[in-house]
Amino acid sequence: MSTLIYWFRNDLRLQDSPALSKACREATQLIPVYVLAPEETSTRWGFARESHQRKRHLTESLIALDTQCRELGSRLLVLQGDASTTLSALVQFTQAQGIICEQIAAPEEQAEVERLRAQGIKVQCVWQSTMLELTTLPFTPQHMPDVFTQFRQKLEAKGLRARQTVSKPAQLPGLASNLEIESVSLRQRLEHLGSSSEANGQSRAGTAQGLQHLDHYFADELPHTYKQTRNQLSGADYSTRFSTWLATGALSAPMIVERLTQYEASRGANEGTYWIWFELVWRDYFRFLHLKYGRALYFREGLRKPDPGSEVPSLAEPTSGIALKLFEQWTQGRTKNALVNAGMNELAATGKMSNRMRQIVASYLIYDLRIDWRAGAAWFESQLLDYDVYSNQGNWLYIAGLGTDPRGGRRMNLDKQALEHDPQGLYRKQWAQT
Ligand SMILES: Cc1cc2nc3c(=O)[nH]c(=O)nc-3n(C[C@H](O)[C@H](O)[C@H](O)COP(=O)(O)OP(=O)(O)OC[C@H]3O[C@@H](n4cnc5c(N)ncnc54)[C@H](O)[C@@H]3O)c2cc1C
Repeated sequence: MSTLIYWFRNDLRLQDSPALSKACREATQLIPVYVLAPEETSTRWGFARESHQRKRHLTESLIALDTQCRELGSRLLVLQGDASTTLSALVQFTQAQGIICEQIAAPEEQAEVERLRAQGIKVQCVWQSTMLELTTLPFTPQHMPDVFTQFRQKLEAKGLRARQTVSKPAQLPGLASNLEIESVSLRQRLEHLGSSSEANGQSRAGTAQGLQHLDHYFADELPHTYKQTRNQLSGADYSTRFSTWLATGALSAPMIVERLTQYEASRGANEGTYWIWFELVWRDYFRFLHLKYGRALYFREGLRKPDPGSEVPSLAEPTSGIALKLFEQWTQGRTKNALVNAGMNELAATGKMSNRMRQIVASYLIYDLRIDWRAGAAWFESQLLDYDVYSNQGNWLYIAGLGTDPRGGRRMNLDKQALEHDPQGLYRKQWAQT
């Protein structure tokens, strides 16, 4: 008899989860668990780590996951607290032989696993959040090219596309019948947080909704026009909107590429469909970069000391005085720039923001306000429904010119951006206030 714990992290799905499939093969009793962060965790800059709407989105995603677990004869146990302390108590209480989970190559998530292992708990981590299988890469992560274009060209030269998806387990191994641990009530939590802000108050979270969105997105011409529309600031389907499902793991990148490949086979490939894949390569790139550089991606100076002759400014931490005031004006959409304010207002109201606007507001914070990029990244973490540790950290560092950008940073000319992407000021008008 083998009792194992399956620890859901950023992989809230049953389909295409090599880690969960492994757990199902190895366990006769499997305890599926999610550990919510303690309430009101705040950042070093004083604001909450998770906005109200991010908590709501996560809660909705967990309800959807619990429904799926019940369909396969089990249920999701939801606990709250420091992950390593909570899981170690659960191991003791259930006498489980170990934990299986997704591997996350980010410092805090790695520390959680290390603390569990330090207590003698067997934790098996499975790498599964990339589109490409780690073992198929033409290099080890330590030897991957730093420059994105070279990274992508090496993948393309080897003809890599995505790892094969794995199907959903037919059944989840049963829970011990005497498992009497109180789970956090997700319904109560949702009631407390208020209903979803989505249209009709209907949640769009979870795998079933994600699959419906894939049906919608691949039904017609949208993938073919993606490259032309992807830089818009707003609109219905100007970009794929896959990110919120990818961030919680309700959909995996290989599941998306499988649909993309079917679409190309039946309706033809063009630069639009290629560009969707291309953007998913960026997502993988930031993940593999974490395997190569780890904690260094979280240092204030990133991977390199700013070159005195470069554009990269010295950045102030927004802890007090003028830096704090400027940072607060940025977070509250009260800067001197109307386009930036519109973006920040949209983010606060919806938890969403286009890729172009993210670049614009990040550039403004770093190069115009001269504020520490890490505070901006933390604000995005607290607000974005699609917050993803790898993509967020990677993009901020890239724009700050402290990562792997061969151009040494991305300062944007905001007047030019407004003219190009919001010529009639409609976006600025729409989001002039929250
Ligand atoms: C400062 C900054 C912070 C960001 N923070 C996040 C974040 O926390 N979470 C997140 O998912 N993305 C982040 N991005 C990347 C990008 O903005 C979003 O992935 C994209 O806007 C999501 O919308 P979409 O799914 O419609 O994207 P699409 O344009 O349709 O792209 C398809 C998919 O490709 C991937 N992708 C696209 N652009 C990027 C990129 N630049 N980097 C990595 N992956 C990419 C995403 O998985 C996306 O879902 C950030 C970008 C910037 C500039």
